Amino acid sequence: MTDDRNTRTNLVHGGTRRSQYNEVSEAIFLTQGFVYDSAEAAEARFLESGPDEFIYARYGNPTVAMFEERIATLEGTEAAFATASGMAAVSGALTSMLSAGDHVVAARALFGSCLYVLEEILTRFGVEVTFVDGTDLDQWRAAIRRDTKVVFFETIANPTLEVVDIEAVASLAHAVGAQVVVDNVFATPVFSRAIEQGADVVVYSATKHIDGQGRALGGVILGRRDYIRGTVEPYMKHTGGSMSPFTAWIMLKGLETIDLRVRAQAASALALADALQGHAKLTRVIYPGHPSHKQHDLVARQMGKGGTVLSLELSGGKNAAFEFLNGLGIILISNNLGDAKSIITHPATTTHQRLPDDQKAALGITSGLVRLSVGLEDTGDLIGDVLQALQAV
Ligand SMILES: *Cc1c(COP(=O)(O)O)cnc(C)c1O
Repeated sequence: MTDDRNTRTNLVHGGTRRSQYNEVSEAIFLTQGFVYDSAEAAEARFLESGPDEFIYARYGNPTVAMFEERIATLEGTEAAFATASGMAAVSGALTSMLSAGDHVVAARALFGSCLYVLEEILTRFGVEVTFVDGTDLDQWRAAIRRDTKVVFFETIANPTLEVVDIEAVASLAHAVGAQVVVDNVFATPVFSRAIEQGADVVVYSATKHIDGQGRALGGVILGRRDYIRGTVEPYMKHTGGSMSPFTAWIMLKGLETIDLRVRAQAASALALADALQGHAKLTRVIYPGHPSHKQHDLVARQMGKGGTVLSLELSGGKNAAFEFLNGLGIILISNNLGDAKSIITHPATTTHQRLPDDQKAALGITSGLVRLSVGLEDTGDLIGDVLQALQAV
């Protein structure tokens, strides 16, 4: 219905459902249930609920449905299911389609909770998981078998910002009939073309760029209608990880500005990466959108832009990294990303603290590495803040 409109227009108007009051801003339907005109109507609704009919908020809700339709239009998928958090989306997308005996191939560089779901939970229910270096196509080729059911990876890995080639991995997976599930947070819904590049399912933590203002946890699973309605929805509505109507309203409003925000943040991230090239206190400046990134051609082909996060490695190890963080005046020490506020974290002692040292080393998470999520502050102020804090190290 909104197919002929362009993205910016859909982000403001897509999926809107108005009540009898014709409100401008989307209504928050804070209700757990819906009244039926008669016992017969209740019976009919339970037999088969139509697209605009609701039964119970765990199954669906008008505000949540507005968010689902708007984000599906942005991603270019037939359908979406909104979840209580990004992890509810990751675990729901995978668990709903896997059974004991199935084989999964996943990239090793994963968000800690994603790794836990694959390594500790799915394996307990008899799913076999093989981990590979996501950037090495030979490893994918060797690990994907005739009985592989699902391939899972983060399109840009946290915090080393290595990029997985969606088209290449998807063609290996599809050759054996496996489904490609991607966690696309770092690529952002604005720069993603994952579906046209071969992903079957795209998952977001809406907590990041979709809210973009650090207010609420949320997530979304996007894919074909038969998968979302036939596989994800029954799993989610019976296990309870649905998004609340209030959160859906926050995320809807986030979508209205996501294109402007993420493009501005990515432009600042690129300017920072440029300004920090060759800095004496840094051994690495990693930004996928900068020509110095070792996979810059792939980034240009896959997303066009480099996202909103860059990673820096200080030559002085942990002490230097801590001095740098403590010397920042504008950029906040915290572990969210995609926020309007610039946020910095030291992965080795926070988000990736629990990884054994050899795994940290294998993933490139050194003691001097910091991850910077670039916000909406003035670009010059951000560059100034980073430079003064580096100088003081
Ligand atoms: C934050 C994040 C998640 C988890 O999302 P929550 O909303 O915190 O549950 C999953 N994957 C990636 C890549 C993330 O950055």
